[in-house]
Amino acid sequence: MKIDLDSRTEAADTGEIPFCRTVITPDAQRAAVRVLQSGWVTMGPESIAFEEEFASWLGARHVVAVSSCSAALQMALMALKLPSGSAVLTPTLTFSGAVQAILHAGLRPVLVDVDEQSLGVSEAGVAAAARAGAVAMVVQHMAGYPLDAKGLADAAGIDHSHVVEDAAHALGAAIAGAAIGSESPAGCFSFYATKNLPIGEGGAIATTDSQLAERLRTMRLHGMTRDAWRRYELSGSWEYTVEDVGLKANFTDLQAAIGRAQLLELGDWQRRRAELAARYDAQLVRIRGIQLPPRPLRAVHAWHLYIVQIHEEFGRSRDETAALLGERGIGTSVHFIPVHRLSYFRRALGTEMCSTLPVADLVFPRLLSLPLYPGMSNDDVDRVCQALEDLSRPSPQRVPIGDSHGSR
Ligand SMILES: *Cc1c(COP(=O)(O)O)cnc(C)c1O
Repeated sequence: MKIDLDSRTEAADTGEIPFCRTVITPDAQRAAVRVLQSGWVTMGPESIAFEEEFASWLGARHVVAVSSCSAALQMALMALKLPSGSAVLTPTLTFSGAVQAILHAGLRPVLVDVDEQSLGVSEAGVAAAARAGAVAMVVQHMAGYPLDAKGLADAAGIDHSHVVEDAAHALGAAIAGAAIGSESPAGCFSFYATKNLPIGEGGAIATTDSQLAERLRTMRLHGMTRDAWRRYELSGSWEYTVEDVGLKANFTDLQAAIGRAQLLELGDWQRRRAELAARYDAQLVRIRGIQLPPRPLRAVHAWHLYIVQIHEEFGRSRDETAALLGERGIGTSVHFIPVHRLSYFRRALGTEMCSTLPVADLVFPRLLSLPLYPGMSNDDVDRVCQALEDLSRPSPQRVPIGDSHGSR
């Protein structure tokens, strides 16, 4: 059978601008075929090579590749060996699966309100939430805006080794020259189809702690001793022991082969994301009622998402704007529905905690994620901006005569 290894997708020709388009490069496609033909498709030598190459890209000491970022968060929290039910701070404006991970680890999520500036959490926010006695914290770098995890831990009075970073958005972000995750006790990454290094599915934990890395390598494969995956190799042994709790959360060589090839493009992709974000900024700044995404001072943004806030002055609600962009063939999304607005978490965490997150409730109805991926053209960005300008309806009394852009 001939496999057509083509980098272009049909969607490219429809004139539509989808919210996201996953690119698996021709080299990555060939690498996947090579693994499929090799007779070894689960975790093995490719996975080890991927871990080394990903660690070196980040500048991290150890990387353990796992099935997803959700599993990475759960395992990093389990490895802390905290008493069951211990309180763990998490932003409410995050992916619901990241909060499920805390529950699956047998711990109790304590929701922290959003910081209007970074869309992450603030030092004051975590300090206030920690007063009830939190012992660990998940720091999420929303959209790729890097947060100082150590500073947040200090503000909350939480030991640095009890900070797990949800770096699902932060691959490519850095503070003071250090990649997010590279100096972390546990930096968790995602290789989900929409993320900055798309493999399709997959995740990884970067850690400075060699003992933790060993524990995670065991934990990702049912708690079986480290080289259990070798037991089907001629040179391997059928024998293993189980010395720790574990789950089925291993990586596969199929994912690793794709990831290794994709990793070679990541630097270019990150540069392109930053260019596109700057292009959005330059045009959207002229539209009244659209608040641009925050830019960190002296730090590198990963630009996983480009999130604007649609204010009243725009003249249409976020939902109406999203629907009208959709009619024009422009895909958008919302990141995220705050966890405290989802019915399961209201039941699991209690309505009292879920009723005291005012900034998230204020900001949520304004959030709109615009398309942002390296395969977008400049023209695509210009079309999205033009569509937003066409849709804007600044109220007449607020627009100075002769200034139809309503510059601010
Ligand atoms: C995507 C995402 C995750 C989960 O990643 P998976 O690899 O799909 O499990 C966790 N946290 C955040 C903030 C995410 O965006």
